[in-house]
Amino acid sequence: GALGVGLYTPDDPLVVFSADTLERSIFNSSSAWVVEFYASWCGHCIHFAPTWKALANDIQDWRPAVTLGVLDCAEASNQKICSDFGITGYPTLKFFKAFSTKPEDGVRLHHKADDIRSLTESIITSIESHRDLWPPACPPLEPISAAELHDFFHTNNVTYLALIFEKEDSFLGREVTLDMLQFENIAVRRVLKSNEELARSFNITTFPSGVLLVKNGSCSSIPVHVDSRPLYTDFLKKLPGVVRGDTFTPTVLPPVPPTTPGPWKVIDRRKLYMADVESAVLYTLRREATRYDFLEKEQLSAMKQYVAVLVKYFPGRLPIMNYLRNLDFWLRPKTNVSKSEWEEALRNKNELPNAWLPENPTWVACQGSKRGFPCGLWTLFHLLTVQEALLSPQPHTPPEVLPTMRGYVHYFFGCRQCADHFEAMAAESMNKVRNKDGSILWLWSRHNRVNARLAGTASEDPKFPKIQWPPKDLCWSCQITINGRLMWDERAILRFFKSHFSRGNIYLDFLK
Ligand code: FAD
Repeated sequence: GALGVGLYTPDDPLVVFSADTLERSIFNSSSAWVVEFYASWCGHCIHFAPTWKALANDIQDWRPAVTLGVLDCAEASNQKICSDFGITGYPTLKFFKAFSTKPEDGVRLHHKADDIRSLTESIITSIESHRDLWPPACPPLEPISAAELHDFFHTNNVTYLALIFEKEDSFLGREVTLDMLQFENIAVRRVLKSNEELARSFNITTFPSGVLLVKNGSCSSIPVHVDSRPLYTDFLKKLPGVVRGDTFTPTVLPPVPPTTPGPWKVIDRRKLYMADVESAVLYTLRREATRYDFLEKEQLSAMKQYVAVLVKYFPGRLPIMNYLRNLDFWLRPKTNVSKSEWEEALRNKNELPNAWLPENPTWVACQGSKRGFPCGLWTLFHLLTVQEALLSPQPHTPPEVLPTMRGYVHYFFGCRQCADHFEAMAAESMNKVRNKDGSILWLWSRHNRVNARLAGTASEDPKFPKIQWPPKDLCWSCQITINGRLMWDERAILRFFKSHFSRGNIYLDFLK
């Protein structure tokens, strides 16, 4: 657990899964499940977490018809299960019908926007996709017919029936039905506007409208005429005799032990740490690349190019470089690689004497609650752009590292929305980069753009504010003031980068 503490706690009304609890809980369950597979380092997951928590609070009464869960795929111990579930990007939301039996039963939860409304609507639509095995705790969601209504109190042992008259595309009736499922003595059904016969018989002319029928034959209108789920729900919950049932007992799973980050490391911000860049390398190969069942075509080319660039420019320790050379040699002639071949290759490449790649990452300058891998990946690619400029005999030829990074991020970076943003920046201007120095500056300025966009947002670790980099205390001459405006001196930036990201500035401390 060097990656931190995950984004959810057992206090949220959702189930925080681990590798050994996920399948036990969601397979053969009488509840449908919606699981968010995320990575605690992924910026979009961090931004999305409050929405997922708010959703869990909003629909906690819908349990046990449907239950929410989360699994942190950044945890080393969850890597295999995330791969078994075919997770290739974060966050991924999957819906599992009640009585699902295997990972492939999960279907992607499609939703229009990352807001509670779109998500609840999408969950309802997913619940309605149950055909034979309807979750037993879930009341019917389909519109009531006149015939069904006629016999309702004979066939249902409740005191009240609330009818919600609404347009076809409204979700209000179904939401209120689910909101009331844990309450006894009441049923809720929707009636469609198109059912003119029923609308006429209750004198309904505006939609939505509600009518309350009582077993003793009385009938009154519900005094709510707006599309407001809480107003309907509050009214119904206050009816005499309507009480929360005790039928629902949440699935009690052993609490997940909180992952404790290792002891805080005192770092020198003027230095790079080999542990961070090596960790980024191992994470790309051991974690990111293994999310796919098969590497072929452009994706395989992107991986080949990445490994080849590491061999050429990564200033790593000898055993790591031996390992990478060995992997590169094996990978070059391949036209497709299955996941098991890839994993096998990663295991075998220790054959050369003095060749190895650590199993697990150790983050040093990249330590912190929401950091780790993405920080390591930026650092790695800055280092590679600089090494390319320093090592290349032809500094004025087009750069290799930048297109390699573009390919890597596009095909492998698990934070999919980060990858889309990066690809948009690359598509806009990467082809204008003519030489190796230009490549250093391009990546520096795009990284600063990302920093500017993310400053002050939830993905910011308070200990590591998203600043325009390098700050004055790291490079005094990089920033110049012209007519009172702060500007960057690109020549000074280049000088600074070539010394900051030089081999000699890398500390070997904290290596395992
Ligand atoms: P990071 O931004 O990861 O930076 C790591 C270190 O690099 C810093 O601590 C600093 O020492 C140094 N540094 C900072 N700025 C520069 C610079 N301009 N040039 C050189 N070095 C610098 N998160 C999102 O929420 N949304 C996104 O769209 C998004 N897109 C991303 C795209 C890519 C390609 C990557 C690799 C990451 C992306 N992320 C995104 C993650 C985000 O940028 C951070 O990596 C993450 O939030 C961790 O932040 P951090 O504090 O470790 O600093």
